Amino acid sequence: MPTFVDPSKCDGCKGGEKTACMYICPNDLMILDSEEMKAYNQEPDACWECYSCVKICPQGAITARPYADFAPMGGTCIPMRSADSIMWTVKFRNGSVKRFKFPIRTTPEGSIKPYDGHPEGASLDDQLLFTESALAKPKEAISKKFDVAESDKTVTEMEHGR
Ligand code: SF4
Ligand code: SF4
Repeated sequence: MPTFVDPSKCDGCKGGEKTACMYICPNDLMILDSEEMKAYNQEPDACWECYSCVKICPQGAITARPYADFAPMGGTCIPMRSADSIMWTVKFRNGSVKRFKFPIRTTPEGSIKPYDGHPEGASLDDQLLFTESALAKPKEAISKKFDVAESDKTVTEMEHGR
């Protein structure tokens, strides 16, 4: 089910040129009404339901209608992400609320070293892979002929019922 913006919570990302939800949507569906300073999903039918906009919204203004297998029709679902966990708040149509919290990472935020000793920066035209210092040579094994022992041949023929 697609996402919806609650206009009473949306602040248009405080007038930024590109709102967080516009930035994150992989399908460019989120758009800002610059007069009202409220965002909305301009084409709910095309929504991939990836929930990226729901997770990134700093105001918690975007909700997703959850799938019927975990919340009956009329419910809403809001994930709130912190540095090490994500909390899903499911609001049922009868008003009851359930929260589920899950860890999302095993290393402290900001502790990963993407280059880790390798030179930073890369050229997309380079034939070398990121961790390679020279082009790999074809392995000798590619053109090597292997001798098959007589005993192995017998086993193979038996497996094929010959
Ligand atoms: S990210 Fe949230 S607050 Fe910002 S424009 Fe989108 S819905 Fe509004
Ligand atoms: S759920 Fe994903 S595809 Fe749908 S509007 Fe949000 S970011 Fe875009």
